[in-house]
Amino acid sequence: MTYDPNNIFAKILRGEIPNNTVYEDDHVLCFDDITPQMPVHCLIIPKGQYLSLTDFSATASDDEIIAFHRAIAKIIKIKGLSDDGYRAICNTDIDGGQEVPHFHMHILGGELCPKMIVR
Ligand code: 5GP
Repeated sequence: MTYDPNNIFAKILRGEIPNNTVYEDDHVLCFDDITPQMPVHCLIIPKGQYLSLTDFSATASDDEIIAFHRAIAKIIKIKGLSDDGYRAICNTDIDGGQEVPHFHMHILGGELCPKMIVR
């Protein structure tokens, strides 16, 4: 699968679609999810063109991977989730139910997350 530069997050990165930015640096953008599933629900994305967590983990530069992980800690603090915690989810590919083909991590919190469905 090749990266589709017309996916919705690519359009957000180009400024073609507005977003409620939580955090931004040279490598990372974080914005609120348009249909929040929890009181806090934001999405962290790399600015580089990566399809999925697998693609990002395998092919992103060390700088990009470090920046992404450092950003998580900053975003948790910005969103006030440091004390009570949160859930981080990366839906991946078909079986993971990934809808937008640009790697993203969901951060969910602000109340107790429902129990995971284990199958
Ligand atoms: P996935 O199912 O790919 O893991 O999650 C994609 C997420 O992107 C969904 O939670 C969906 O609500 C969110 N989303 C889709 N389109 C937009 C948009 O235009 N703006 C924002 N902020 N979020 C979006």
